[in-house]
Amino acid sequence: MTHEYDDTNIFARILRGEIPNDTVAETDHTLAFNDITPQAPVHVLVIPKGKYVTYDDFHAKASDAEIVDFHRTCARICAERGIVADGYRAISNAGRNAVQEVPHFHQHLIGGRSLGRMLA
Ligand code: 5GP
Repeated sequence: MTHEYDDTNIFARILRGEIPNDTVAETDHTLAFNDITPQAPVHVLVIPKGKYVTYDDFHAKASDAEIVDFHRTCARICAERGIVADGYRAISNAGRNAVQEVPHFHQHLIGGRSLGRMLA
């Protein structure tokens, strides 16, 4: 898929402060907020502040500092939200086959209930 970044996507608008979000964590490089349509008691979206479209785009173009900060923030949220002991899912949809809805790289952190098998 194209990695051309669309500045009008909803997460770009959240980052610019044009629409509100329920912030869970924020660092220099990373923002985390609750999903507007949660699939489980814990459903947090974690995004880099930089303009990356997919998981692969992020890891190809971001600095080491951005990448480390992103993953440390994800892990910290899992611990803080109490989903580590019982288990959780950390997933990122990329492109057409994964039906990525928002073309700004994001990781879903989902937990707080039994999630079943991902590949049924
Ligand atoms: P994707 O399918 O791209 O992996 O997931 C996009 C996610 O963004 C969905 O879970 C959807 O509920 C969430 N989402 C879409 N629009 C908004 C919004 O305006 N605010 C928040 N907090 N989440 C959103």
